[in-house]
Amino acid sequence: MTHILHRAANAAMPVAVGGRGIELFDRDGRSYIDASGGAAVSCLGHGHPDVLAALHAQLDRMAYAHTGFFTTEVAERLADRLVADAPAGLDHVYLVSGGSEAVEAALKMARQYFVEIGQPQRRHVIARRQSYHGNTLGALATGGNEWRRSQFRPLLIETHHIDACYEYRLRETGESEAEYAARAAGQLEATILELGPDRVIAFVAETVVGATAGAVPPVGDYFKRIREICDRHGVLLILDEVMCGMGRTGTLHACEQDGIAPDLMTIAKGLGGGYQPVGAVLLSGRIFESFSKGSGFFQHGHTYMGHPMAAAAGLAVQEVIRRDGLLANVVAMGEHLRARLEQRFGNHPHVGDIRGRGLFQGVELVADRLTKASFDPKSRLNAAIKREAMARGLMVYPMGGTIDGVRGDHVLLAPPFIIERHQVDDVVERLGEAIDAALA
Ligand code: PMP
Repeated sequence: MTHILHRAANAAMPVAVGGRGIELFDRDGRSYIDASGGAAVSCLGHGHPDVLAALHAQLDRMAYAHTGFFTTEVAERLADRLVADAPAGLDHVYLVSGGSEAVEAALKMARQYFVEIGQPQRRHVIARRQSYHGNTLGALATGGNEWRRSQFRPLLIETHHIDACYEYRLRETGESEAEYAARAAGQLEATILELGPDRVIAFVAETVVGATAGAVPPVGDYFKRIREICDRHGVLLILDEVMCGMGRTGTLHACEQDGIAPDLMTIAKGLGGGYQPVGAVLLSGRIFESFSKGSGFFQHGHTYMGHPMAAAAGLAVQEVIRRDGLLANVVAMGEHLRARLEQRFGNHPHVGDIRGRGLFQGVELVADRLTKASFDPKSRLNAAIKREAMARGLMVYPMGGTIDGVRGDHVLLAPPFIIERHQVDDVVERLGEAIDAALA
């Protein structure tokens, strides 16, 4: 019997006792290739010696100093590092302990900004149906997954959801890329106009949709259009790069590939690579100044924000990525992974789509390859794939079912940036066996 309340704790779960490189080991001596980086977290794999050394050194110096009394060198250095590489205009950093905290803080920053500049009537948040932004109440309200939200609805802030820009849909409609991107982005403008352009705080979106859709990148110039619409109506653009950011897609920030910069950006997961819980909001100077010139501070805070151990992990992980040129490996291994996935699953009768960027790839599973009809969500295909993959020593991130009308089960792959070619081959081989066994 277990006394721990994990999301999925059960007696059959292996007990992890160690990790090295791209593998985790359980108590019974089995090893697992971490091809999902947990949930797109472990970007340097496990037991990286330079990160461990940095953490030990920080622990020896000082584990904790409350941000109400002190700033710390390590947190300042991490903030400098993040700002040096941030999208244009994002020149301040708010350090927190994870993705949901980052999203909560970004939402509150956006609201406080408008209060500070004398537009308190702005109160609406618009987000997308295909999205996950976290499990705390604000983040949960913002996310698009109705199933996650339904029982907590009375506790949630009001949010408005539009469709994501989903390549899958483009093929269904027969529109050109530009027509589809314009139509998808147009939903934002229509919603802003409906709510009243001077009533909307922010639009929140994952640059590449992760957990709920399986690494779905935007189509064409979708985000350029989104940026223009936000600017036209004075609405803040919050990009949630908690999952797709910090190098996962081959550029440090996914939005670099879309040629835009948001007003606020959330990061976490790969920021600390799993070595410590750490997240951050990157914010623009104008938002920062609204607080410093207005009431003087951002009215928010957590006991563990800017924690020195978390900052040390983030700093070490980010320095290793740059020193070892790992983004180039993300691009090269991402291309190899994509090619191998296409080779293995391109003609698979139950694979409807293979998509993603860099080492953030999704394989979509469908009942019928041609019509793209989905499996019955009750079939729990995702659970079967997870079980079969784990039995073959492979960790992948399968998600399933129909989410707000978007069909399809999918498997998300997000291996550590240090993965090598032969290991990519091994991942695809094992995944192929696991999927076929789950479908049998
Ligand atoms: N935003 C996105 C895009 C995420 O993928 C996640 C986590 N899957 C979160 C926010 C929430 O992060 P956390 O689980 O660290 O609270």
